[in-house]
Amino acid sequence: MEDMIRTVKVKLDVPDGRYDDLHQTKDQFLYCANTTAAWAWRHPDEHCVTSKQQAENALYDRLRDETALTANVVQKGIRRAIEATKSGVARLKKGETTSQPQFDAWSVVYDKRSATFHRDHVSLSTVNGRVECEYVLPDDPEETPIGEYLLNEEYEFRMSTLQYDRSSEAFYLHARMRRTTDKHEQSTTASNAEHRTVLGVDLNVDGSLAVTSTGAFIGNADEINHRRREFEKTRGSMQQTGTRSAHLSIQSMDDREHRWIQDELHRASNQILDEARDHGCTHVAFENLTDIRDRMAGAKRFHAWAFRRLYEYVEYKAELLGVEVEQVSPAYTSQRCSKCGFTHETNRGSKHQFTCQKCEYELNADYNASKNIARKLLKRLHSEQKSSDGGAPCQYALKSGTLTLNGGFTATVDSTAEGESTDKPTTSVVGY
Ligand SMILES: [Zn+2]
Repeated sequence: MEDMIRTVKVKLDVPDGRYDDLHQTKDQFLYCANTTAAWAWRHPDEHCVTSKQQAENALYDRLRDETALTANVVQKGIRRAIEATKSGVARLKKGETTSQPQFDAWSVVYDKRSATFHRDHVSLSTVNGRVECEYVLPDDPEETPIGEYLLNEEYEFRMSTLQYDRSSEAFYLHARMRRTTDKHEQSTTASNAEHRTVLGVDLNVDGSLAVTSTGAFIGNADEINHRRREFEKTRGSMQQTGTRSAHLSIQSMDDREHRWIQDELHRASNQILDEARDHGCTHVAFENLTDIRDRMAGAKRFHAWAFRRLYEYVEYKAELLGVEVEQVSPAYTSQRCSKCGFTHETNRGSKHQFTCQKCEYELNADYNASKNIARKLLKRLHSEQKSSDGGAPCQYALKSGTLTLNGGFTATVDSTAEGESTDKPTTSVVGY
């Protein structure tokens, strides 16, 4: 079916006092695009870089440090410059003259990761948190593009741009609306296309950095902490840790240490996505990362920074795989028994050991938590799904197979070959 996209321009009612947040977001977005263009454009001395992945690997961390933009907006700036570089290279090939792309038009690119599009308002990620803007709708939108596409449930929001009109000092969303498949097609493809499998990820300040619901123990938080302490010792700047932002103290780490930690986080993100791919996951679930210090004993600004960075790496790499990354509330994920559902604070016996006081199920505490995290997202997806198309399968990925919300278990072919004593698939999951 043809991919029909219509662009609809709608005026935004930006709250008083938030104009500057949008202007600064634009400035920093253009900075990302221009920095990338300057890096990628190497004509005539060398070939220009036209790989988004290569550009992201080279520039993402630096631009995240240099701007207050969220991960996805930085990424959109990089990608916009690479698209323009590609067009430039195509023109050069045709023998036309062209030069390094420059970005100065007032424009910020948003997609559903950096904006939440509703039929009556949009929530935009900015340098200063989210800004909620109502649409300014005409009195009688019926016959207008707004009525025909923006308000029409048969169209969904795609990558859109925020623009600004200087003469009227007004902000506009140029919403790109794509027609969704018709009802018949939706119902016949739902069981395949909408099949959902969730990978849960639990993050830790010691032991393994990340533990997945498939039983993968990824990264070494202790080693990261050690590296960080060594760094702080040599700098003798411990007294400043509490007052300076992690952002600054991370930046002040010498390049070698900084690179090592970033590499470690990159490696961990790749392993998480390997798990997701190997288990056919459509979604990856993390705990909500805000207020992580309040929640986790021993967590410092540094950990909050590292977790956010890891999450962002997973998020932008997941996009290339078509995998969604979501956050869920961390409430009770460490106290709930992933086998019987019994939830109590005494369930957690020791630091990394979980023992259910009701069914006596024992397993690694972080592994238990990761399964609960997966289940939380699954529940959310399931409830969203019930309201839309009603019955596509939802499941979460475990070490030995997948589990649906009502307890149905599908073992993977080689599950019998796996031998972790605390999680024998056929006993632990059937009694769910
Ligand atoms: Zn239990």
